[in-house]
Amino acid sequence: MFKNLIHLGFPNNCVGCNNALVQNEKFICSSCFFFLPKGELNIDKNSQTSQLLSESPSFIGASHLFDFDKNGKTQHLLHELKYKSNTKLGVYLGELMGSDFQSSLLDIDFIVPVPLHPKKLYQRGYNQSEILAKGISNIISKPVNNDNLIRIKNTETQTKKSKKARIENVKSAFSIKDITLFDNKNILLIDDVMTTGSTLIECMKEIGKSKNVKIKVLALARALA
Ligand SMILES: [Zn+2]
Repeated sequence: MFKNLIHLGFPNNCVGCNNALVQNEKFICSSCFFFLPKGELNIDKNSQTSQLLSESPSFIGASHLFDFDKNGKTQHLLHELKYKSNTKLGVYLGELMGSDFQSSLLDIDFIVPVPLHPKKLYQRGYNQSEILAKGISNIISKPVNNDNLIRIKNTETQTKKSKKARIENVKSAFSIKDITLFDNKNILLIDDVMTTGSTLIECMKEIGKSKNVKIKVLALARALA
């Protein structure tokens, strides 16, 4: 029975390796943290992440915190966030995003998570990108807006789709309720994992309907397509 308890993981154990955390460590031990594959540091148009998204006229730049390593620690963190309801970890990861990119986020007006379709939101109980957005908000003290960009199409999961199929799958999946709300605003668009960027491009198409809106994109992780 004790073994089962250990397997479940205590809140004071590392989510990466399950070793006990020491003082000042939160969720992830220093060793796991050290070996997490770090992404790019700056949100600008020259980042690799930006190359995928540059077609939107409102787009300013993009970055991501971690590279996705299949079967590695980043995948484990994402699994905890997306499927294990570990929302406290999600807020913490959002706070890491906010701290690491703070200097690029001074001009942000609204933090906007990629929305889930209401059906999926009901099933999961939370939007993982919104949890990350809350963590970022804790650091940069800017509001999260989760009800102006909405998902109107309940798309299938993108995981096993080709780039072309992904673009088709998310086409017209999003809508903006009040276009004027984002007029002249700097938006920080948040995603958990970006791969081809097709979801983010569709979101930017909608946000880009507002006048003189500027969009920065930040993802927790980037996976190679
Ligand atoms: Zn660890």
